[in-house]
Amino acid sequence: MALGKLYVVSGPSGAGKSTVCKEVRKILGINLSISATSRKPREGEKNGVDYYFLTVDEFEKKIQAGEFLEYAKVHNNYYGTLKSEIEKRLENGEKIILEIDVQGGVQVKEKFPDAQLIFFKTPTKEDLEKRLRGRQTDSEETIALRLKNSLAELEYEEKYEVTIINREIEQACRDLINIIEK
Ligand code: 5GP
Repeated sequence: MALGKLYVVSGPSGAGKSTVCKEVRKILGINLSISATSRKPREGEKNGVDYYFLTVDEFEKKIQAGEFLEYAKVHNNYYGTLKSEIEKRLENGEKIILEIDVQGGVQVKEKFPDAQLIFFKTPTKEDLEKRLRGRQTDSEETIALRLKNSLAELEYEEKYEVTIINREIEQACRDLINIIEK
């Protein structure tokens, strides 16, 4: 049976990885793995579409039950990939893009050494701050926390196998497609 492959895309919040992953999934016809989180939905986000939105209690019960392939606390909230989201699809030989934080990425690599770790970042730290502020859905406090955590995430780049620098969305999409189609 042909096993599928996991592509893990991580990098600082605000680097534009969601936009690029969404576009690349559309172009390559790759289905989305929907993560679970204990954070509150942002305006316009839907349960079961953007995330499975759980309470902290519900999330912790699923941790206890061993339902996560990986999970981590990011910006004070839980985020995790449910095994149920990916196991069947890997058995079917599908390629899966996991857009998860660096702690989760390292966990995935331990369980699936064949997974490819792709780091995604902006050309400079100033670009990152500009983008985080440009997203007007977050409060000043949230932005400050995300910025601090994003700088810490940059330290993980060396654990990743390849880096995409998001200078321009279309080029970043092509870079990701080239890695997946290689
Ligand atoms: P946001 O709150 O902006 O949607 O996501 C915040 C961070 O959580 C991002 O870095 C995102 O990649 C990460 N994240 C989203 N889903 C998962 C997941 O399933 N597992 C882990 N470890 N991180 C995730």
